[in-house]
Amino acid sequence: KAQGRNGSRYQVFDPSMHADAQTSLLLDTDLHRAIERQEFFLHYQPIVSLATGEIQGFEALVRWQHPERGPVSPGDFIPVAEETGLIVPIGQWVFREACRQLKTWQHQKLLRGPMYICINLSVKQFSQPDLIEQIDQVLQETGLEGRYLKLEITESAIMNNSTSAAEILERLSDRNIQLSIDDFGTGYSSLSYLHYFPVDTLKVDRSFINSMAQTHKTPAIVQAIITLAHNLGMDVVAEGIETPEQRHRLAELGCQYGQGYLFSKPVDTQAVVGMLSHRDQILLGS
Ligand code: C2E
Ligand code: MG
Ligand code: MG
Ligand code: MG
Repeated sequence: KAQGRNGSRYQVFDPSMHADAQTSLLLDTDLHRAIERQEFFLHYQPIVSLATGEIQGFEALVRWQHPERGPVSPGDFIPVAEETGLIVPIGQWVFREACRQLKTWQHQKLLRGPMYICINLSVKQFSQPDLIEQIDQVLQETGLEGRYLKLEITESAIMNNSTSAAEILERLSDRNIQLSIDDFGTGYSSLSYLHYFPVDTLKVDRSFINSMAQTHKTPAIVQAIITLAHNLGMDVVAEGIETPEQRHRLAELGCQYGQGYLFSKPVDTQAVVGMLSHRDQILLGS
């Protein structure tokens, strides 16, 4: 047992907490250097039509190649970066790089149809006062049109900023930038915000897709989300589809789009180019 800083309370000190704190400290120091050392890069995961397997767009997912530790997963470093505020410069790098990359693919005439790029914005990024100015600058710099861009935010990003959220979302939609609610169904917020905010897509969290075969209740929840989305004029993307059974069940439930290892893992740019330059329209998952 360790004595608390204020001297009056005793806390049980869990050694794993110590390890976690130590890890975050190390990660934080290293994250500071990671941008200038160019240790970040992006992987892209296709989002496909469940009926045909046609690629609709890609989600950009950040990767970190640490010089000593090797690859560090975003699940480990994004929360640290979010806590320390480093997510802001990292997110700016991701944003610029993803826009630049999509524009390059457009130039190379690799894209069939209006393929979009999805970029994740964490709570802290979403609440930056100059978010819109930053976005405008990158769109201008890269020449990418807003309509090819989809921002993924979680419900908590909206709820934590609900007064300014309305204004930000309005300004995004003025630029034809689309909005996805990521990990939908895992937050604790009320549904009423869907009514007020210009949401284009709900991404059903992977946990629901995972447990669809195991419990009878899950398909009912997924069905309810799909019905809700469609009644509000929104699209649905199911995350984390790994089996043909999940794909077919989701298609039966009326879900149009999906993403998951069944179709493709997140891959590097070279693999994306390979996918896209396939002579016939490549159909994933078949
Ligand atoms: P997310 O936005 O919900 O992204 C989906 C995650 O699920 C990705 O993990 C992806 O690799 C993984 N995934 C996709 N399909 C499957 C599947 O079929 N099975 C399984 N088991 N997993 C699948 P990843 O890349 O490790 O990213 C984790 C989270 O880190 C993301 O969740 C997102 O919240 C955050 N993240 C990643 N890149 C960025 C970024 O550039 N900026 C910010 N702010 N957050 C990011
Ligand atoms: Mg996402
Ligand atoms: Mg997600
Ligand atoms: Mg998720």
